Amino acid sequence: MEKMSKKSALVVSAHSADFVWRAGGAIALHASQGYEVHVVCLSYGERGESARLWRSGNMTEAKVKQSRQEEAEAAARILGASIAFLDLGDYPLRADKETLFRLADIFRQVQPHFVLTHSVNDPYNYDHPLAAHLTQEARIIAQAEGYRPGETIIGAPPVYSFEPHQPEQCNWKPDVLLDISAVWDKKYAAIQCMAGQEHLWEYYTRVALQRGVQAKRNVGINSSTVISHAEGYQSLLPRVTEDLS
Ligand SMILES: [Zn+2]
Repeated sequence: MEKMSKKSALVVSAHSADFVWRAGGAIALHASQGYEVHVVCLSYGERGESARLWRSGNMTEAKVKQSRQEEAEAAARILGASIAFLDLGDYPLRADKETLFRLADIFRQVQPHFVLTHSVNDPYNYDHPLAAHLTQEARIIAQAEGYRPGETIIGAPPVYSFEPHQPEQCNWKPDVLLDISAVWDKKYAAIQCMAGQEHLWEYYTRVALQRGVQAKRNVGINSSTVISHAEGYQSLLPRVTEDLS
């Protein structure tokens, strides 16, 4: 990956499909606005999120990983993002210091204007909060002048948590509703690349419609803005602005 000069965004996904369900709209929307969006999948989700592939029989871990990689690459292509896989394993996902440095180096290469990752809590999935933790820690390392001195450090890109599967149990509450109506077709096409998790296609369509209704309510029902689909995000850090409108 060459150093990016345009506006850019970094999406850190614990498993190879999370970025599609949870942030596919944001990725497609910003790609259509000219952002370079880079997705990092920390693992393929080969153990925990590939049940259908395992049930199909005659499977090996290598075959599951390959299939998950192909699905995720196809989805990223549709959404307009570049994608990389760190293959750290899942259930459990674990990362040593070198891995954290790899992620910090990606931050420095991408120089993201914003970052998307998982919720900080998730009692159903310990890989997801770990991905959020690694993302935040790598961001801080990439900001440090003393890490690989002489390299360009990163600024302070906002970090948003995308929507977990069980928001209430994860203490996740959206404070941003992103209107993804214009790119919903792309997101749904990317969702359909996830052949191993067909049971989630309709579920995440319903989530997008539900968030769309909430977004519409929050722009005012007299607004002429037509919103059909949205994604929810929770800011992990305060935004700095000179305009509160
Ligand atoms: Zn996951």
